[in-house]
Amino acid sequence: MKAVCWHGKRNIQVDTVPDPGLINPRDAIVKVSLTAICGSDLHLYNGYVPTMKDGDIMGHEFMGEVVETGSAVTNLRPGDRIVVPFPISCGNCWYCQHDLWALCDNSNPNSYLLEKAFGDTGAGIFGYSHLYGGYAGGQAEYVRVPYADVGPAKVAEGLTDEQVIFLTDIFPTAYQAAEYCNINPGDTVAIWGCGPVGLLAIKCAYHLGAEKVFAIDRFPDRLNVASTKCGAHVLNYEETDITTALHELTGGRGPDSCIDSVGMEAHGTGVEGIYDTVKQSLRLESDRPMALRQAIKACRKGGTLSVPGVYSGFVDKMPMGAIFAKGLTMRTGQTHVQKYLRPLMQLIESGAIDSSFLISHRMSLDEAPRGYDIFCNKQDQCIKIVMRPDGFGATTPFPVAGQTGTGHLEM
Ligand SMILES: [Zn+2]
Ligand SMILES: [Zn+2]
Repeated sequence: MKAVCWHGKRNIQVDTVPDPGLINPRDAIVKVSLTAICGSDLHLYNGYVPTMKDGDIMGHEFMGEVVETGSAVTNLRPGDRIVVPFPISCGNCWYCQHDLWALCDNSNPNSYLLEKAFGDTGAGIFGYSHLYGGYAGGQAEYVRVPYADVGPAKVAEGLTDEQVIFLTDIFPTAYQAAEYCNINPGDTVAIWGCGPVGLLAIKCAYHLGAEKVFAIDRFPDRLNVASTKCGAHVLNYEETDITTALHELTGGRGPDSCIDSVGMEAHGTGVEGIYDTVKQSLRLESDRPMALRQAIKACRKGGTLSVPGVYSGFVDKMPMGAIFAKGLTMRTGQTHVQKYLRPLMQLIESGAIDSSFLISHRMSLDEAPRGYDIFCNKQDQCIKIVMRPDGFGATTPFPVAGQTGTGHLEM
């Protein structure tokens, strides 16, 4: 089969690899109909996540048709259309039983690798390095889905692939991020990063009762989408002092909650930005937490920080004093997709939230190397790329290439 494979930093190729087969009775084999490139795939692409091996198959956002099931999978049959959550979760352990699916105790055979540093680690994840279990990903024609009897959800009749594909990760991630803010009527929410998760988080925050949502980024086209498609009040951090602006816009208090949907590759300005870039490049700091520091500073006293952005290791100059002095609450972690998948599919069915507006590019798997390049460099006004193994046919309108990216320094 064809699969999108990792071959080192910024080196993605489409290879022919053996088809996956059933290994355990609870496995299913899925023929992928649609898959997406995620912002967190870029951390692998840029070489920030250790333990990737040459030839590893990428991708944790995928859906498709069941073609084969193990003997213990009684809820799915060949022909069923399913969406698959990105965390691989057993359904039986203490964490799964407490709806903390992304913290499953049984699905990551390599959890020992991080136990010394972190004390414990989370669930296995499709296509996300050997730290997360070394599972083959779904940017491929076929994929083996472990614990297929508990994770995947059948797609409701009448919904298209493009309507439901983001239930695999970014829609539940955005929803969980907004839910972690404990939004009360009249609340203000500030969101750093207008990538796919940030944009959906704006919609989710409004859905959960926020009165005003502020969105912070530096790319004018993304800020434009945040404003016109999601109704956010937008701020460009290269033009505005964010803390001052947010205080002025919230009667001097600051936002009730702040969402960092940027994570460990944030771009900063000034001395602080240079400090983090240098330290990260020297491996003295694994993550660059500029967005997080700004959120801590801007948030109102007693407010909440919600962090869906991915952090992989250690951050420096973390203003713990500010978190303490201001009495902030922080909530973070991988998304418990299995908890949100079905309720959010109902929101899509009812028309309450549509996530398909994010799709800016449609490609075939063969075009994945170009897709990663465009997405990584934020060219072509790219927000979200979806891929079909066989492409979309000649009639699909395709964005015109050629617009150059903004060319920022990245280590
Ligand atoms: Zn993702
Ligand atoms: Zn479990």
